[in-house]
Amino acid sequence: MEYITNSPNETKKVAEEIIKDIISRQKKGPIFVGLVGELGAGKTTFMKGVAEFFEVQETILSPTFVIQKIYEITEENRHKENHEFKRLVHMDLYRLEDEKSLEAIKWEDYKNDNSNILFVEWPNQIWENAPAGMIEIKIEHGEGDERKIIY
Ligand code: ADP
Ligand code: MG
Repeated sequence: MEYITNSPNETKKVAEEIIKDIISRQKKGPIFVGLVGELGAGKTTFMKGVAEFFEVQETILSPTFVIQKIYEITEENRHKENHEFKRLVHMDLYRLEDEKSLEAIKWEDYKNDNSNILFVEWPNQIWENAPAGMIEIKIEHGEGDERKIIY
């Protein structure tokens, strides 16, 4: 699927649409989504839309310096949206050097936990090819505020 957006808000709406589609196919974790795109493409903006869908109250910031951020998903949201995810995990691998450094951030634990829905910015920093099981979302920068989102 391809979507064209012309503002951050439109990108957030597309994110909500995509997340709805993902969880309609799989209501339980682990789910691992890779967000691919250049700096400023809109990966973190997309995450803000995902966080709105899961009614995360905290402000979503780019986790470039902390590598990962974990947001709790409420029971109410699980009922309302009909899924079983307890945590939204947002990672940014931009600063990691190689696959080995994933151990330090307990990557396997996060990835294999069936309470988690995991979004990873810059997966291509670590993996040349999309790893097995990764749902890839690619954001391409167009003219001005135009972005193409490929799901
Ligand atoms: P990334 O995480 O990919 O580096 P960000 O989401 O942090 O990107 O930043 C995207 C920037 O582009 C923001 O400043 C946002 O306001 C701007 N922007 C302009 N148009 C769009 C759009 N259509 N979709 C997403 N972001 C947009
Ligand atoms: Mg970002």
